Amino acid sequence: MPRRKSRPVSAVKPELSPEVAALAGEVVELRRHIHQHPEVAFEEYETAKFVEKYLKRLKIPTKRLAETGVVGLIDSGKPGPTIMLRADMDALPVTEENTHSYASKNPGRMHACGHDSHVAMLLCAAKVLKQAGLPAGKVKLCFQPGEEGADGGGAMVKAGVLNSPKVDFAFALHVWLPMEAGKIAALDGPCMAAVDEFTLDVIGVGGHAAYPHKSADPVVAAAAIVGNLHTVVSRNVNPFAPAVLTVASINAGTAFNIIPPKATMKGTIRTFHKDVRNLVERRLKSIASSTAKALGCKVEIDFRRMLGATVNNRAKAEFVRGIARDIIGKRKVVDAEPSMGGEDFSRYADKVPAVFVYLGAKNPAKGIVYPHHHPRFDIDEDVLPSGVELHVRVAREFLKHGRR
Ligand SMILES: [Zn+2]
Ligand SMILES: [Zn+2]
Repeated sequence: MPRRKSRPVSAVKPELSPEVAALAGEVVELRRHIHQHPEVAFEEYETAKFVEKYLKRLKIPTKRLAETGVVGLIDSGKPGPTIMLRADMDALPVTEENTHSYASKNPGRMHACGHDSHVAMLLCAAKVLKQAGLPAGKVKLCFQPGEEGADGGGAMVKAGVLNSPKVDFAFALHVWLPMEAGKIAALDGPCMAAVDEFTLDVIGVGGHAAYPHKSADPVVAAAAIVGNLHTVVSRNVNPFAPAVLTVASINAGTAFNIIPPKATMKGTIRTFHKDVRNLVERRLKSIASSTAKALGCKVEIDFRRMLGATVNNRAKAEFVRGIARDIIGKRKVVDAEPSMGGEDFSRYADKVPAVFVYLGAKNPAKGIVYPHHHPRFDIDEDVLPSGVELHVRVAREFLKHGRR
């Protein structure tokens, strides 16, 4: 019997609503405009103005939060829940090496993480939602500053973005270069890691390099601490629980013949579960102190908890996957590995049910293969309409069916 030929996954076209399909050109134009004018964390003044102007033309009222954050509200006038759609607006201190016509015009600044496309997709979704109207409730549009290591999400929450009206569900997506263009993943549970930072000052006794017995050498102690810290993940953490402990910087000394009085190490810890996070912190402190002590030194520890893990609400993640299947077909809604990277969307997910989605944007056939934060980073812009559609449908379906 001849085998029935099935269409390759890549040939399946997304099912776009006519209003979104009509914006396919505009979403690319918006993305390219923002791409050419990148601004880094908490300097997004021009980007914020651009967003405000666009929303004003749509007669969507806006307010500023956290200096450069912009919040818009679309109100159906009917009772119902509130969904918040979030886009981050900041670029990175990277010099773009792409030579396409829409490359960055700000030297040393580049949208190398794709936040330009998040803003463009959310603006277009706002246009569709405003013009076609909402079935009930409200849509809050959250254009946040400073996602890249600056905790703009935390600043927005502190400034009250989740209140008046109270947010019942928060949604965001990220263009995702580890994943092929056209695919979407909405993971159950943890999807982006908790981020902690540490600085260890190993204090010894300096002296002449030729007389080590008259010193307490912090270089030797620091080296031993690095080695011992690598037992935390391999010997203390359950092998089924992800954890990373990286010593990323180590500095000591000034000359070949001097034992310095101090060595400084910096690093990061990435985990997904609270108990693992606590365990790694506890073991790090204990190993650093006792190793230093054993070698005649002491250690001063500055440990900073930066961000919690981004944890998707499982029921809502399934709700989003169902909508994504309707748009791009069930074979393209895939499972993906969680990322050990951090994401300040966790600030919202800590407080309200939330879903963070990966929108695949890699396309080797077009040479779009460079990872996030690379000077040649780019995205396959053909995925942008599906992203707009996902924002629109998630908002409409959530508001139609209420709190579930
Ligand atoms: Zn990034
Ligand atoms: Zn990012």
